[in-house]
Amino acid sequence: MRRWVLAGLTVAALLPAVQSAQAQSQNASCHNGMSFERWLEDFKRQALTQGISQRTLAAAAPLMTFDQTIVNKDRGGAVFSQTFLEFSDRMIAKYRVASGTQKLQKQKDMFQRIEQQYGVPGPVLVAFWGLETDFGAGIGTLPTLTSVTTLAYDCRRTELFQTQLLAALKIIERGDLTPQQMVGPHAGELGQMQFLPTHYVDYGVDFDGDGRRDLLHSSPDALASAANYLSKVGWIRGQPWLEEVRVPEQMPWDQADLTILLPLSQWAKWGVTYADGRPLPNDASKASLLLPMGRHGPAFLAYPNFRMFTEWNQSLVYSTTAAYFATRLAGAPPIHRGNGTVAPFAMAQIKELQALLARRGHDVGKVDGFLGLKSRQAVKVEQMKLGLPADSYPTPELVERLRAGR
Ligand code: CA
Repeated sequence: MRRWVLAGLTVAALLPAVQSAQAQSQNASCHNGMSFERWLEDFKRQALTQGISQRTLAAAAPLMTFDQTIVNKDRGGAVFSQTFLEFSDRMIAKYRVASGTQKLQKQKDMFQRIEQQYGVPGPVLVAFWGLETDFGAGIGTLPTLTSVTTLAYDCRRTELFQTQLLAALKIIERGDLTPQQMVGPHAGELGQMQFLPTHYVDYGVDFDGDGRRDLLHSSPDALASAANYLSKVGWIRGQPWLEEVRVPEQMPWDQADLTILLPLSQWAKWGVTYADGRPLPNDASKASLLLPMGRHGPAFLAYPNFRMFTEWNQSLVYSTTAAYFATRLAGAPPIHRGNGTVAPFAMAQIKELQALLARRGHDVGKVDGFLGLKSRQAVKVEQMKLGLPADSYPTPELVERLRAGR
């Protein structure tokens, strides 16, 4: 659950380590010149007023240090953008589908009990489990307290990480984990489902009945906590989330938009069918048409439950991949790869596109080379203005016409 990672992946940072003292004094700028030590004292005083005991603080103290390599990892790291097919091909390799299916069968009773209690089916949980940590195999090895303390003092997202640090201390306070047990990747995510510490506190549950919420070592705890989270943010029991479909040559493409929910009968009328060609039911249940790579790429109906995937991770590429993986684990066949070739856009091209869109007054968020929902919305508006098929996915033709100012 990395809400602040909008898309793509981070690879290990290769930046040289900066002298710690020098870095610390640079960081003091957002704390009115306060040194790390002074800042930490202040933070601990605040924590005491927030229900954290002296005992917990003493136990955590040896790990609440500043580590410049964490900051380097956070700043550096080549981030690269991938299309839905590139990402899903990589993340949903055959072995992943096979081991996910095996996990579902092996712990069938547990998944049934979880679904009974929270309404979220096993395949959905196992999809997130596979994508986040390869089913619990890769939860990270860095001491979370050090990571989160460092990033709380670092100026980039200091407020966010102060909140996460307090939550990490709460996890220790209530006896779920010891400071030493708390390990993960550099940005502080915890356990088999990579929960932020605040989510751990708010949504973590003890499902194996040992009295502790241990989302690192207990897969029942981790999976049930994810189900609890998804149900709290709105998962609707017994409803689908995503279904692959086929789109016709022509239809009102501007209707393919996650903010537009239409009855299946309407999609059927426009010529949308199931992936195998069967007609959609003449049905009033509603769904959005999701074209992650435009009208020539894969096509899905996204039901109201799809929103819970975008709650988990705002990146459309990640959330579509997770939802598609879940359908595979629930028995759906591999995806059709679309009816044409979709030109992949390099990050530099997406950046240029975003700059062109921003110049025309669109809010595309950060010009970061990631094709997020805001950029896609702006693409759609320009496609409509230019009389191009408005499927929200950029084409070389669109970029050229925006460049020419036509
Ligand atoms: Ca437990």
